Amino acid sequence: MSTNTLSFRYALEKQPPRTGSGGITRGASVHQFPASIGIAGVSMRLPPGVMRELHWHANAAEWAYVVSGNCRTTILHPEGGAATDTFGPGDVWYFPRGWGHSIQGLGPGECHFILIFDNGDFSEDHTFSLTDWLSRTPPEVLTQSLHLSAAEVALLPKGEVYFAAGPVPDDRSPNATPRAEPALLTTHRYPLGAQQPRRVPGGGLQRTVTVKEFPISTSMAGSLLEIEPGAMRELHWHPNADEWQYYLEGRGEMAVFLAQGNVVKEEFEAGDIGYAPMGAGHYIRNTGATVLKVLVGFNSGHYQANDLSAWLATNPLDVLATNLGIPREIAAKLPQGQAFFVPG
Ligand code: MN
Ligand code: MN
Repeated sequence: MSTNTLSFRYALEKQPPRTGSGGITRGASVHQFPASIGIAGVSMRLPPGVMRELHWHANAAEWAYVVSGNCRTTILHPEGGAATDTFGPGDVWYFPRGWGHSIQGLGPGECHFILIFDNGDFSEDHTFSLTDWLSRTPPEVLTQSLHLSAAEVALLPKGEVYFAAGPVPDDRSPNATPRAEPALLTTHRYPLGAQQPRRVPGGGLQRTVTVKEFPISTSMAGSLLEIEPGAMRELHWHPNADEWQYYLEGRGEMAVFLAQGNVVKEEFEAGDIGYAPMGAGHYIRNTGATVLKVLVGFNSGHYQANDLSAWLATNPLDVLATNLGIPREIAAKLPQGQAFFVPG
């Protein structure tokens, strides 16, 4: 396939979902979205009490952003200990590769979250569920291992449950593990929505979480971009990571520069996902009448970007005039510092 026929857009929320017990999930790996070689993503919705069952991912860490609603997670630490956390809109979680976890909707209403995996080849084939395992294990092994009678083992699910519906945990009941302290930042939770943003008047807002702010998140980082109508996240590239995008609100245009004369420009709307490969130049421009809100994930714990304005501003005027074949007085009009967002 020639690069200029590759699409960097995938209409994730228009795909048929996997459903069960009220849960809804739509995912895209490199198999559905061929451009997304380094990062896969999922959009999942859990009504109150509905659980994504105990499971782990053998080949990817999981980074999540809660769009709406509330949920609770449990996770086992393989070197000892465990954590139970609750999440609300704007919160991020990170579960290292291979760690067993579950997610349950707390209500009120549905909890919608976006999951990102640092492996484009992520799939259900590499996801291991508790009930899938138990239902394929000899009953005598389960009676020995689980302290259950043969009759009780016979009550267990006969196949993978994936989504399970149950009561909503009550923080005052034994269903819940009380939080030791009401910390905003925990081992697995970072309150991205509460972060003081980078603000460019007329341009937009950026909030970013990396391994520096969220130490467990060693292999992934993320940003929330809010771009004003007509404004843009300027031309830039990331030398150290692929970029995976989920368009939360509004309309935008994104173009990916692949060298050798190839630029792929596409239009995006809420529910679409986009992808900018490591090192490929790109921009995101708000083409709608409302704020364009984009969730961006990277498969590196560190955020690095080369913004065109910063690059031009650090070069001598003569270099720019010669390179672009323009008089010095025109070259002097070029950006004098990093813009990040450019107002419309
Ligand atoms: Mn998971
Ligand atoms: Mn970018």
